[in-house]
Amino acid sequence: MRIADLGRSVDLAAAGREMHQLIEELYPLCRSITGAGLRATLDRIAQDVPLGRHEVPTGTRVLDWTVPREWSIRDAWVKNARGERVIDFLRSNLHVVQYSVPVHRRMSLAELRPHLHTLPERPGWIPYRTSYYEERWGFCLEHARLAELPEGEYEVCIDSTLTEGSLSYGECVLRGETADEVLLSCHVCHPSLCNDNLSGIALCTQLARHLGPCARRYTYRFLFAPGTIGALAWLSRNEAGLTAIRHGLVVACVGDPGTPHYKRSRRGADVDRAVELVLRHTGGPYEVRPFSPYGYDERQYCSPGFDLPVGSLTRTPHGEFPEYHTSADDPSLVTAEALGASLGLYLEVLAVLEEDRRYRGTNPKGEPQLGRRGLYGALGGLPHRRQAEMAMLWVLNLADGRHSLLDVAERAGLDFRTVHEAATLLREHGLLEAA
Ligand code: ZN
Repeated sequence: MRIADLGRSVDLAAAGREMHQLIEELYPLCRSITGAGLRATLDRIAQDVPLGRHEVPTGTRVLDWTVPREWSIRDAWVKNARGERVIDFLRSNLHVVQYSVPVHRRMSLAELRPHLHTLPERPGWIPYRTSYYEERWGFCLEHARLAELPEGEYEVCIDSTLTEGSLSYGECVLRGETADEVLLSCHVCHPSLCNDNLSGIALCTQLARHLGPCARRYTYRFLFAPGTIGALAWLSRNEAGLTAIRHGLVVACVGDPGTPHYKRSRRGADVDRAVELVLRHTGGPYEVRPFSPYGYDERQYCSPGFDLPVGSLTRTPHGEFPEYHTSADDPSLVTAEALGASLGLYLEVLAVLEEDRRYRGTNPKGEPQLGRRGLYGALGGLPHRRQAEMAMLWVLNLADGRHSLLDVAERAGLDFRTVHEAATLLREHGLLEAA
């Protein structure tokens, strides 16, 4: 099976349900940019796809950054005077500011208050906060709960350690007919957050599973790395191989039911055109945005010293759904339907990348006589006969060795599948040859 055939053979509804199940399974783990939760997440991914594991020691220089100490957390709580846990890490791992240094002492609510983070405008939600590069400690909680806490003395404990260790990331490499690569990258560093983090993990895992048994023109590299520092570590260790990357996508926020959004690469690349072509022909709403040096790890891949052809295909972008970076980004925010639809989009995009080629017509002087070759008849069974006929004429006309099938689809205003099928038919009848 070729990758281009997956769009029709994969049961997107079933795949969506599987992705949602994986999200629910990974949801309770306390991931961070280092540590046990991150490793347990990679362990789970490795059950589904062949995963190369990498550990980058604390203190390693990665470009302008340094791999931080490894953070481990066992428990954390704030107890009231009666010894009851009024804030409890075991209820939600979002309750602790990530990378909190250890603390264990009694203090008044007034003393504790500067260490408490809430969302007054969303009183029922717990915010997600981190302090990777500054030694602090803190708790996050529902604003409504904070309002209920009486004055008095509290016992505060964060049972964490920051030690020499390493940063972990995983890579699933599926070799293709060529060494040219497609990079698919997702971040794996958020704790119990679904659309921002787990949806990308689930989609990449599912995609790698489906691509595994396929014939592949490209080599596919799936990178499961902590945001920013993980991508920087990977880039700094793989600089020599980056020239092999022909196309890339950062996968994130693919599980909410919102409109698909595409953020272009910095330099402008075929992957931008491929995604935009696919989105244009879905028939539904979508939005395309220019590159900006903010967001996920596209900001590292598209930094000027690398300038890789990497865009980002999401649904609602980060920061633009109210649940973003709060406890409301839970398994109910992401749906099997949206996950399945996102997978469908990615499969269509990969089909374009895989099958986009240049051809030369074997009979370029005048139109070849299609009827004599039974080519009009061959279109009979196709649902969009008129489109298929136009696709053949366009492919023949632009088969001059300079135009690719993506060029043809854009110029003809046709979807890629129709153009590709026309090219396949013409090739089978000896009217096209690889340029
Ligand atoms: Zn995030």
